[in-house]
Amino acid sequence: MASESIGKVVTEIGRRIGKHKIENTLEILTCYAFDATNMSRLPQAVAFPESCEEVRSIVGLCFERGIPVIPRGAGTGFAGGSVPASGGIVVSTERLNRIISIDQGESMAVVQAGVVNSVLQKEAAKFRLMFPPDPSSLEVCTIGGNVAQDAGGPRALKYGVTRDYVLGLEMVTSEGLVVECKGTGLRPKRWDPVRTLLVGGEGTLGVITTARLRLLPQPESFRTALAFFDSTVAAAEAVSRILASGVLPAAVELIDSDTMDCVRGFVSIDIPKGVGCSLLVETEGRPSEAEDAMVAVEKTFAKSRTMGLKVAASDREREDLWRMRRSISPSLARIAPCKMNEDVCVPRSRLPALVEAVGNLAKRYCLRVPTFGHAGDGNLHVNVMLDRRKKDEMARAEAMVNGLFEATLKLGGTISGEHGIGLTKRRFLADQLGTDGLEFQRKIKASFDPAGLVNPGKVISDQ
Ligand SMILES: Cc1cc2nc3c(=O)[nH]c(=O)nc-3n(C[C@H](O)[C@H](O)[C@H](O)COP(=O)(O)OP(=O)(O)OC[C@H]3O[C@@H](n4cnc5c(N)ncnc54)[C@H](O)[C@@H]3O)c2cc1C
Repeated sequence: MASESIGKVVTEIGRRIGKHKIENTLEILTCYAFDATNMSRLPQAVAFPESCEEVRSIVGLCFERGIPVIPRGAGTGFAGGSVPASGGIVVSTERLNRIISIDQGESMAVVQAGVVNSVLQKEAAKFRLMFPPDPSSLEVCTIGGNVAQDAGGPRALKYGVTRDYVLGLEMVTSEGLVVECKGTGLRPKRWDPVRTLLVGGEGTLGVITTARLRLLPQPESFRTALAFFDSTVAAAEAVSRILASGVLPAAVELIDSDTMDCVRGFVSIDIPKGVGCSLLVETEGRPSEAEDAMVAVEKTFAKSRTMGLKVAASDREREDLWRMRRSISPSLARIAPCKMNEDVCVPRSRLPALVEAVGNLAKRYCLRVPTFGHAGDGNLHVNVMLDRRKKDEMARAEAMVNGLFEATLKLGGTISGEHGIGLTKRRFLADQLGTDGLEFQRKIKASFDPAGLVNPGKVISDQ
């Protein structure tokens, strides 16, 4: 839209919700142009609504004027989902940040979409409750972003993903209508396609303003260990052994040696020489349960090529291990300035085959590919490191990603376990869904957003 006209829209939004809640200076636009990928595109304005009514007012006006709206939480997405691919107005939820209620008896929280995941965790902890989805970005990412991405995290192995905890949602549609999918008690309504589709809808169906969430009691105690293996394949085989043993740890995270080299500073333990891969395993429950489960895990290690095991001896040591795990993503910048961060997911029994394929592809294309992730779920973060300014490296990285997706689909997997399709993977979606599947999804999108103004250019778009 021409800058003169966008100026008028900005003025009108300012008149409706307050001048301080809409910005279009270059400094602000630049801050809202990107997410955690290397992609960026300037929006034309950024709005900071504080209520559902204000979101309705902004989105309704954009609909009348044919301006795209891009819902945005904290911009930690790894698929370009909140990048304003076609310009338009970013609707930031950062001021929709109120925890409306936490009901201990009902084990339920009602929160605005911009509440940061860790803020909810801390408030819920005061009632000895927790919100199980714990993406490693939890210090920053928002509940709205978690719902839109159906985020997972290390605990997804035992507790499932965001979808399993969304009881109800309030959203603003592309035309500026407010729709509530309420849900009662601890069961969401049975026939509730709007809620079902909004979770994991990647911000393409409307703007989520409030979420009603199920909470669970906090576990009483934890046992946390880092086990060392001579190779990534050996660690991947150990994952299957753990899970076949009948024990269900809260988390089984794989960290290969290239990745571990980047975060070594965070662990004050001796890592044996020649370690090719590590598994971070956590069991939990009543003290005896957590202990028995860890003993059972250790027994399975006896059958794997384990090179040693370090069990956290205190809360401090446990926190250090998790701090190390959560620092992985940013620390990879030590290897190269950019990465293609893929999060492929395969049936757990196929994990050894997947890591073998990753190793072969990395060799074939002469690239460094640190790999880590939620191995217990079969979900691996495969990071193809590169310098985008080097054309040859870009071409090799793209070929490697093509090969990775091909191998994943052959193994019965999916091209995204949790980060979503967004901009980065949309050209591969037809391989996964088939052309009929893709066409059907386009019809669903059109029924929510007939004018194509909500987060255009993402996921199923052919633009
Ligand atoms: C270091 C790091 C670690 C990560 N670890 C994990 C992990 O363990 N598990 C995992 O699943 N992900 C992980 N992620 C990815 C990311 O943090 C999650 O996808 C998170 O849910 C995104 O939340 P956000 O608030 O940053 O959303 P954004 O990045 O702002 O947006 C993501 C998508 O959601 C949409 N959206 C945001 N808010 C709304 C709303 N209110 N209404 C409608 N649509 C909305 C946007 O349009 C966009 O498409 C990680 C990212 C980083 C950088």
